[in-house]
Amino acid sequence: MLRFLLPPIFVASAAAAQQAGPPAVASPTSGRSVGRGAQPDLSAVASAKADTIPDAVVAIARSTPAAELRRQLFALAAPGMEGRRMATRGDSAAARYVATRFTELRLAPPSHRGYYQPISARRRTRTATLTLGSHSYAFGEGWILHPRSDSMQLRNVAIVYAGADSAFGFMNRLPDLHEKAVLLPGAAFRSGRFEAIARIEKTLRDRGAVAVLWTDNLVTRILGRRQANAFLPEYENSLDEVPAGFPEIGVVPGQMSALLAGESSLSVDSVGTISGPQSLETFTLQSTLSLEVKSAYTTETAPNVLGVLRGTDPDASCIVVTAHRDHDGLNGKTLYPGAVDNASGTVALIQLANMMQQAARAGHRPRRTIVFASVTGEERGLLGSSWYVSQPVMPLEKTRAVLNIDMLGRVDSFYKNRRADSNYTYVLVEDSAGVGLMNEVRAANAAFNALHLDDRYTRPPYYQRALRGSDHYPFFRKKIPFVCFSTGFNEDYHQPTDTPGKINYVLLTQQTQLIFLTLWNMANSEGR
Ligand SMILES: [Zn+2]
Repeated sequence: MLRFLLPPIFVASAAAAQQAGPPAVASPTSGRSVGRGAQPDLSAVASAKADTIPDAVVAIARSTPAAELRRQLFALAAPGMEGRRMATRGDSAAARYVATRFTELRLAPPSHRGYYQPISARRRTRTATLTLGSHSYAFGEGWILHPRSDSMQLRNVAIVYAGADSAFGFMNRLPDLHEKAVLLPGAAFRSGRFEAIARIEKTLRDRGAVAVLWTDNLVTRILGRRQANAFLPEYENSLDEVPAGFPEIGVVPGQMSALLAGESSLSVDSVGTISGPQSLETFTLQSTLSLEVKSAYTTETAPNVLGVLRGTDPDASCIVVTAHRDHDGLNGKTLYPGAVDNASGTVALIQLANMMQQAARAGHRPRRTIVFASVTGEERGLLGSSWYVSQPVMPLEKTRAVLNIDMLGRVDSFYKNRRADSNYTYVLVEDSAGVGLMNEVRAANAAFNALHLDDRYTRPPYYQRALRGSDHYPFFRKKIPFVCFSTGFNEDYHQPTDTPGKINYVLLTQQTQLIFLTLWNMANSEGR
């Protein structure tokens, strides 16, 4: 699962994306507005038809070999795989591992070039300097920038202090802001900082402002998290919908204090509250602000691994099954094994192909063609899945739906604190074309009837993160319906402690069984 280093920024950028137009996604606070009438009723198992799955196929699901899943997961999360970071030796080794399984399973390669679909990714190296008054700070040195623009230049911009009131009253009093930066008061933005700035940004831009400057201890916390992830490379991302050009500059209270030292009427405390005269007047600071951001790029390549199982109906659409293979790699000598994230989904993907081939051999070849996709670069910004939707091996118009698997086989923090032994899976369905995906999940679970289907991630406050946080999202943006299975976030998420020994292989097996029967339904239902 893609780790958003800055969840609040993520929410704010999602809000900006909604203003920009499609895709129609719900805001984090206003409930869902995606084109599906009612919430799925996940408890209505009785209404789902289970008798359409052949007994032989259910028997194949029941025979899922837990020991084999365990063996493969230990192999993918082994030190030799080096944490499988995209465009490293480790991810290449993992790609070979998956391609070897595809060969053994006799999946068809999608092209004459074999199972590999090389993706190209632009790695970004950014340098930046912020100058406040007489002090200059390098990128990451006590300040953050949102959006994280590629290039930007502001020179000696005047800074207008917005006033000391705690509401948005200053918005009515602000003078002409042409080519100026606005220093926001502290208290008005103590909570929901990024959302608050997003709400007033358009007005500030309309009045000519070129930047927002703010301070809070939140900046210190964000920088701490960034420091922990500084070993991870950054890439250009086609999904970045944040409109560039209006920088929001957050600085730690100490830097704001240095800036305001020359302003006799203003001071800032250690948590970032700016205090000033009781009057609500706005005024221009004596110091100015300069900002310069530059980026350089290098191109890297890494493989998606794609295997095809042909369906019986050449006119039918196809199903794509995705599970990202990559994780965070090595930080020096520290291994991020990514056992649950997403070696677990990768072994499930291999097992699904295995079981579907068993079904085909037993006379139950699925009607639709299935593309099994072990994608790379998910953790670096959904890069492999974005590449796939731009270079699909089956036309997107003939892609009925996507089944995405991201993190299986661990009881998450929510369930762990409530039920010691949990048989559940989260399921996120977006069926914009109304092809009946939720029924297909329910019918699969009815045939097997083992797991509690939890739709928590279809609702705020989790929905945005779940929608945009994994490989179904590039498909969603192309209006392709999807189902995503996940076991949720546990305490080892994106930590060196996400190890294969902590996987609950009984739960992983049960989840894989349910996903197989869901895939069976997706590949065999009526319609195109
Ligand atoms: Zn992840």
